[in-house]
Amino acid sequence: MKETLTYLAPANLDSLFQLMADYPQATIMAGGTDLLVEARKHGLPSYLLDIKNLKELNYIKIEAGYLAIGAATNINAIKESPEIEIWCPALRKAAEAFGCYEIRNRATLGGNVMRASPGAEFAPLLWVYEAKVRLLASSGFREMAILDFITAAGKTKRMPNEILEAVLLPLYDPKNSLQGYRRIARVAGMDLASLNAAVLILNAFDPEARQMRIAFGAVAPLPDRPTEVEALLAGKKITRELLAKAKVMLYEHYQPRATSLRATPEYKKIMTGNLLEMMLEEMGMIS
Ligand SMILES: Cc1cc2nc3c(=O)[nH]c(=O)nc-3n(C[C@H](O)[C@H](O)[C@H](O)COP(=O)(O)OP(=O)(O)OC[C@H]3O[C@@H](n4cnc5c(N)ncnc54)[C@H](O)[C@@H]3O)c2cc1C
Repeated sequence: MKETLTYLAPANLDSLFQLMADYPQATIMAGGTDLLVEARKHGLPSYLLDIKNLKELNYIKIEAGYLAIGAATNINAIKESPEIEIWCPALRKAAEAFGCYEIRNRATLGGNVMRASPGAEFAPLLWVYEAKVRLLASSGFREMAILDFITAAGKTKRMPNEILEAVLLPLYDPKNSLQGYRRIARVAGMDLASLNAAVLILNAFDPEARQMRIAFGAVAPLPDRPTEVEALLAGKKITRELLAKAKVMLYEHYQPRATSLRATPEYKKIMTGNLLEMMLEEMGMIS
């Protein structure tokens, strides 16, 4: 590693891609809230390419059936967005739980996705929304399901000449769907989630047509949708008896690693079912 740090701050996307071509070794930095913590352990990269203030990556807008959130949009902007309140209220809830005001003002959605941490705040929601990512290179863009994009903890399919440009959330009719988010942490103040969970219910008010999407973070190497539990709860009234079966299935489905810093495997296994119950209770879905 060279001793000096070269800090590059492009004014627009054209200049970003020129700098990426000129300095292929440069590390992209958005809010820097993961990168600078990493730098304490491994040292700063020699070249930093700061994308945080690029207007082209800072937006929240509706486009062709999706809510598109630019990768450099910070978490406070997500928390305060009226569009997100309408279309993705559970995402707002996750933004409220995230860090503290100062961290939320720097941290970005794009950085959260690219860090690909198993316990990332937004991951279970992006899984139940079946979100897509849009990657941009100087030659054009491509889109991919988030499920295919994140391949392992800390690993994605981004190519070196690409940036994450946006996260695309399908629009689910709020009159017909319900969504929830819950997390548990060791302390009430600022702490990463020990376990987090999301639910999206489609055709929520018609038990026979009801579809369930459930996802958990920080309980497996990747965020996970327990599809057999989704199938069990779909298309019928959710009674206490049915929920008890779902909780047993969840308990058996997950084998969290023993080395987790934030909670024991047994606690996480039990809490998957409890978080699901809390969210369904809040939604008035248990009969
Ligand atoms: C005190 C503190 C509290 C925190 N609390 C939480 C919390 O409650 N929940 C939570 O989930 N996380 C939390 N975090 C972790 C961190 O804030 C988040 O993961 C955040 O979303 C990272 O975004 P960033 O913009 O700061 O990313 P950066 O640190 O700038 O970047 C992270 C990684 O993504 C890459 N990258 C960033 N943007 C792009 C892009 N557009 N295209 C390609 N690559 C890109 C970078 O090269 C880097 O590898 C916390 C961190 C701290 C220090």
